[in-house]
Amino acid sequence: MTTAIVDDVVAEILALKKSLGATILAHYYQEGEIQEIADITGDSLKLAREATKVSSPVIVFCGVHFMAETAKMLNPSKVVLLPDLEAGCSLSDSCPADKLDRYQQMLRENGRKFQTVTYINSSAAVKALSDWIVTSGNAEEIVRRVPADCEILFVPDQHLGRYLSEVTGREMILWNGSCMVHEIFSIDDLKKQKKQFPAAKTIAHPECPQNILQYADFIGGTEAMIKYVSGFAEPTDFLVATEANMMWQLESKAPRHRYHGVPGVTCACNKCPHMARNTLEKLRDCMKNVSPEVTWQPEFDKAREVLERSLLNPMPVAVAHPPGD
Ligand code: SF4
Repeated sequence: MTTAIVDDVVAEILALKKSLGATILAHYYQEGEIQEIADITGDSLKLAREATKVSSPVIVFCGVHFMAETAKMLNPSKVVLLPDLEAGCSLSDSCPADKLDRYQQMLRENGRKFQTVTYINSSAAVKALSDWIVTSGNAEEIVRRVPADCEILFVPDQHLGRYLSEVTGREMILWNGSCMVHEIFSIDDLKKQKKQFPAAKTIAHPECPQNILQYADFIGGTEAMIKYVSGFAEPTDFLVATEANMMWQLESKAPRHRYHGVPGVTCACNKCPHMARNTLEKLRDCMKNVSPEVTWQPEFDKAREVLERSLLNPMPVAVAHPPGD
């Protein structure tokens, strides 16, 4: 799109936002032009929490499907729009609810006492089968809440689970899922970049595999990354191993630094193809048509309970329904 067309689309979006009474939420992995127009940007945890504070009748969620579902679960009375209903997530898809249900049954039949800790990148049906929901921002705190006499079944991200197991010292049964973007960073290219920028700090998302995390100076979710780079007063080089659009957010929050994306093995851009389904035009169209909308599903009731207990209650509480009940 030419700059003039982009300006026209942006003007239409702003007018529609006003007439609908909408709030636009955008994940850090959205294109910069979408983040720029959003009322609130954030990682999954921040957006889930912010979604509960929105007073407008309509939420437009620029992110992927499970995130919009989460916003709907936390705001049952609001209209939640997603620019492209097909914006899915490979990580979420790697853990279908029926498969998880069968696996949990098998563990129970074998007398295993466990709690299921689920990364937020999962469907509502999987959340409904869980004891806890975590994001990369609160996972460590939640894992420490699980009673010591319970095993932990961690789904769906094996890499985040392995990392959490290391930092908390809790053994985990890991689901064999992963994110197609974070799994493909090239270790050879990272080593070359480290030689090219010997003073650079490497920052990596915990969804990356161990072979990348072992070279990181800092491991954390996107909010934590912003905090980390903001703590460096002098201009610094950072090698960044997470979704490429995060660079836009880092550059706008701490522009004094230089950011170098770690290339992927198969694709140098490292952009999430699911997030990329949302475009400015689709954002405009969904507001114009008040569709596609994320509507309430039967499994949302149980999933909402787990979400609220995990994400909105910072104090340790007892689990209402221990697994196996
Ligand atoms: S970056 Fe990975 S985890 Fe995030 S939405 Fe895309 S596929 Fe899913």
